[in-house]
Amino acid sequence: MPVYLDHHATTPVDPRVFDAMRPYFGDVFGNPGSRSHPFGWEAEEAVEHARGRVAAFMGASPHEVFFTSGATESNQLALWGRVGFPPRPGGHVVTVATEHSSVLAACRRLVAAGTRVTVLPVEPDGLLDPSRVEAAIGPDTAVVSAMWANNEIGVVQPIARIAEICRRRGVAFHTDATQAAGWIPIDVRAVAVDLVSLSGHKVHGPKGVGVLYVRGGARSTLLDPWMEGGGQEGGLRPGTPNVPGIVGMAEACAIVRERRDTDALRVAALRDALSERLLAGIPGATVNGSVARRLPNNLSISFGGIDGERLMSALTGVAVSNGAACSAAARRPSHVLEAIGVAADRAQATLRFGLGRGTCPSDIRIAADHVIRIVGLLRGG
Ligand SMILES: *Cc1c(COP(=O)(O)O)cnc(C)c1O
Repeated sequence: MPVYLDHHATTPVDPRVFDAMRPYFGDVFGNPGSRSHPFGWEAEEAVEHARGRVAAFMGASPHEVFFTSGATESNQLALWGRVGFPPRPGGHVVTVATEHSSVLAACRRLVAAGTRVTVLPVEPDGLLDPSRVEAAIGPDTAVVSAMWANNEIGVVQPIARIAEICRRRGVAFHTDATQAAGWIPIDVRAVAVDLVSLSGHKVHGPKGVGVLYVRGGARSTLLDPWMEGGGQEGGLRPGTPNVPGIVGMAEACAIVRERRDTDALRVAALRDALSERLLAGIPGATVNGSVARRLPNNLSISFGGIDGERLMSALTGVAVSNGAACSAAARRPSHVLEAIGVAADRAQATLRFGLGRGTCPSDIRIAADHVIRIVGLLRGG
């Protein structure tokens, strides 16, 4: 198997997470909504215990944590829930050009339904200038959505400052913290965020489970539910909860809390070594996005004069993405690289490296040598 350096796409489930989940595929199978027998009580207790652990992870109260099927759903619920379903007329949403496709696609659908959406540009280093948020907010703005850290170029946005502006202007602020959560402290007491999306499988938890933090909880009137059903999750997210997934998500968050700071230091050093080797070994290679303000595990590098598709198919020794994982099917150049002004011929020859908790120095040596050799071969022939 190739060296796995695609941790922005997904991460392996931590063995402790798997162990925590296992009973909920077996004896503890009840529906947490069953109020009349111990099968239900046991499941409910597990979900509420998990809610408390996720709340502790992000400095929230348990009643502010809502379980979803993943960050895609959390993002849609945050945006559509703020605007109303169907959208209230005259609504306005502010977002950013480099957001994840689940935010941008939700915004396109809002536009089709009559909502006004402002998509803010970023600076050439990928960072959002908070003054643009200030200028974009109007009297009808329902929500500002800006991601904590980018999934392609890893840049970490000035979330505290953006949140402060939104708080002062009385506008709800949503942030997609899916990529940040494994590496950066997420504390809703320290930062004035109102809505936060998380995903289990990006933090060594299971796929198919996520979180939406809602300041003030279900009764805060921040959100309109967009699905109807049995009233689970305070009515914001009806449907029988994914009990094993929720238990796994909570365990994953607890493990991140334990080891995040030491992992971040170690992984950043490996990432820097990878960056140095690639830049030294490949003439004309450049790093995309701010080097100073980025996730410890991210490196996005573009090469000139090479065919991106040939590069990807020749790189059999390392599992990376070409920076457009989520829009790979569309075969369009990455909207993120476009937003930071990377020319099309360089954007199509870009590699996104996502290191992980399990990445070791030999992985980096093997990956760097392999990429340098392949790029050299393709350029030579
Ligand atoms: C992966 C990802 C998502 C989608 O998460 P899912 O749980 O797979 O739906 C959303 N936003 C960002 C930034 C991501 O990296």
